[in-house]
Amino acid sequence: QSDRRIYVIANWKMNKSLTETAEFFQEFKSSNDVSVVVCPPTQLLYPTQLFIKQSGKPVDLGGQNVHWADKGAYTGETSISMLKDVGCEYVIIGHSERRQYAHEDDVLVNKKVKQAIKAGLIPIICIGETLEEKNSMRTEQVLSTQLFGALKEIDSGDFIIAYEPVWAIGTGQSATADLAQQTHSYIRSVLKQIVGEKAENISILYGGSANESNAAEYSSMTDIDGVLVGGASLKAQSFDGIIKVF
Ligand code: PEP
Repeated sequence: QSDRRIYVIANWKMNKSLTETAEFFQEFKSSNDVSVVVCPPTQLLYPTQLFIKQSGKPVDLGGQNVHWADKGAYTGETSISMLKDVGCEYVIIGHSERRQYAHEDDVLVNKKVKQAIKAGLIPIICIGETLEEKNSMRTEQVLSTQLFGALKEIDSGDFIIAYEPVWAIGTGQSATADLAQQTHSYIRSVLKQIVGEKAENISILYGGSANESNAAEYSSMTDIDGVLVGGASLKAQSFDGIIKVF
């Protein structure tokens, strides 16, 4: 195996108040040397950065979304420099919930990825097939299209891929570690076609109902370089439980 970084990343989605965020960092131990990133909702980014500092834990901050333009008349949006300004080093791009509810497509994802890389933030690019696509044996085709789309005109290797099968997100139906490994290995082969040998150093995370009980199996797989965690990242104790395993 190469010297890929191992990540455990929390995606809090549209959850948590200011008080709950403060409580999380009072309890949070983060006792492992993997890279830990917390992605709170936008209005909690700045206080979260302060809570992280107070806690003294080595945790990095990430946004859950970003706009593709530098600035201007885009009501309700957040630019990449705004994310940077409050201490973000990462940003989730193309999460399946945004693809579904905000109709984001690969062209838009590509614009956002370019914006992040240009600004020196690391995009966490989410890809994954739906249940229907899986059942009709189209997983590889879907993933390849999403990867080529998201990474169009990009030759840097400074990004993270999160493989999140849509059928596994928030459903409790996590992918088996064997299936995830097999898919990650396919993803790495597509990345090789796109960015060449740099693909060996790109962290590919699994996401979809990852928790304290199944994390150990994922961590033992060669091409699984960490997890992106939704539900199980909301409680400090269960998030810590996952971090401990990696
Ligand atoms: C996610 O949406 O990024 C995710 C992995 O969610 P969950 O862990 O809740 O399935």
